[in-house]
Amino acid sequence: SGHVEKREFSAEVGRLLDLVVHSLYSDREIFLRELVANAADATDKRRFEALTNAALALPDNAAIRIDPDKDAKRLVITDDGIGMSHDELVENLGTIARSGTRQFGEKLNDAKPEDRPSLIGQFGVGFYAAFMVADHVNVTSRKAGSDEAWTWSSSGKGDFTLSPATRSTPGTEIELSFKDDAVEFLDPWRLRSIIRKWADHISWPITLKEKNEDGTSEDKPANEGTAIWRKSKSDITAEQYTEFYRHVARAFDEPYVTLHWNAEGTTEFTSLLFIPGARPFDFMEQSRESRVHLHVRRMFITDEAELLPNWMRFVQGVVDTEDLPLNVSREMLQATPTLQRIRKAVTKRVLSEIQKRAKDATPEFNTFWDNFGPVVKEGLWEDAEYRQEIAKFARFRSTHDDDLTTLDAYIERMKDGQDAIYYLTGDNLDALRNSAQLEGFRARGVEVLLLADPVDAFWPERLHSYNDKALRSVVQSHGDLEKFVTTEEESESPVDLEKLLPALRDALGEAVKDVRGTVRLTGSAVVMTFEGGPDLAMQRLMRRSGQ
Ligand code: ADP
Repeated sequence: SGHVEKREFSAEVGRLLDLVVHSLYSDREIFLRELVANAADATDKRRFEALTNAALALPDNAAIRIDPDKDAKRLVITDDGIGMSHDELVENLGTIARSGTRQFGEKLNDAKPEDRPSLIGQFGVGFYAAFMVADHVNVTSRKAGSDEAWTWSSSGKGDFTLSPATRSTPGTEIELSFKDDAVEFLDPWRLRSIIRKWADHISWPITLKEKNEDGTSEDKPANEGTAIWRKSKSDITAEQYTEFYRHVARAFDEPYVTLHWNAEGTTEFTSLLFIPGARPFDFMEQSRESRVHLHVRRMFITDEAELLPNWMRFVQGVVDTEDLPLNVSREMLQATPTLQRIRKAVTKRVLSEIQKRAKDATPEFNTFWDNFGPVVKEGLWEDAEYRQEIAKFARFRSTHDDDLTTLDAYIERMKDGQDAIYYLTGDNLDALRNSAQLEGFRARGVEVLLLADPVDAFWPERLHSYNDKALRSVVQSHGDLEKFVTTEEESESPVDLEKLLPALRDALGEAVKDVRGTVRLTGSAVVMTFEGGPDLAMQRLMRRSGQ
């Protein structure tokens, strides 16, 4: 019908495109990883939708097909996935909906050139990576369940067009017109090696169209497609584990922990899980649910099964079971006892690995703690089942020294007669170290934990005590100090408190409940304290959220 609709990219897309095209020159081959990953995601999605809508069923030969043509300087990637409607093409390929992408653009802008590849790895640049190698891209897509097809078309500079198209089957076809300096990527051997490197684990068949001697051409398998977690450990190299980790976590670092095991018994499953070595830069903005992938008989089902508690959401990987039906629905997933059992077993396994590593107390464990401790501590607040176990391996800053400490080590250092674990919460460690609230404790050699993460405002009250020692905020414990002797000479009060206190009470009026003398200050003149009510940081937090 020839009606062509012209649209502008959103400003963020324009900027991101510019960055991707101009700053990632040395890593251009990842364009294929990004496009193949999208095709695989779309195929997974269609398979999942088809569970409840048979009309969307995938063809038996569903695959991701790659067709290079070096003479024409063109590459076509086709999938049988869920496809995109007119509006989805505009939304997905013309705007940046995900908050993380904007941030990514900013980070990339600020990063030194040599750090950029690792940023890309952490995030993945997605579809726009196509413009690293192509100067024009056409995306023709037909949404599964619809007869309409549309072509999105752009040179990656400012605008794109949409026009009606035809496609005999649902799915998406991406046609890249290559830049002269990128034609190397059209060599079949080069494409094959990129697929092996980046996409071997994709469980859908990936084919590469290659010419035969007699001039005919043929789709030849290009990926192994075996689920790595189903192989035996001795057949997997460290590099293969790392590659798979990077694929499943969309990460670029080395995993800190790789856990690969088969569970046998009432529920049978295979699991390959990783704890990342670095914190993904947008980790704290991501959703709070675990994204570990659930497979049933090697088929990806969902990453929304919440296979681990929220405080373990840094764990990445897959769980694959024989004990669920392939057509399990989301609703059913939540209710099935099989999944509850898997959840419990997987959580226990990860927990015991963390416990083991905490015991070894290597520098790597401290790095893990720096990366994910703030998330683990959410478990102290909300996970009644594992709260005490988390408390045992948790690490804290304290007034003892600059290192991280455990609660057990704190208890060993407690003063004679001390029956509580003292802590102070606040916004940052430096401010805490200099807080006047600590003076009386310092003077008496009583150690105080310094808690500077936002979650620290909440969990101490819930944990309540550890090994029969109460957790007590210093802000509410000045009374406790009287039972400890100062290590320094107690200074004579230079002022007559009998006169000063009534005067201060008058002056401050309603603003305070009372003004009292104290033994807990050595340098500062006054300090605010709270009795009974919520802790200072909690009050501040509640104020911030308008309560
Ligand atoms: P990401 O994949 O990280 O979300 P992309 O920029 O790669 O980001 O893609 C944006 C969106 O476009 C995807 O989330 C998906 O909804 C859609 N999309 C991309 N490629 C395809 C495809 N081959 N089939 C269907 N949808 C796709």
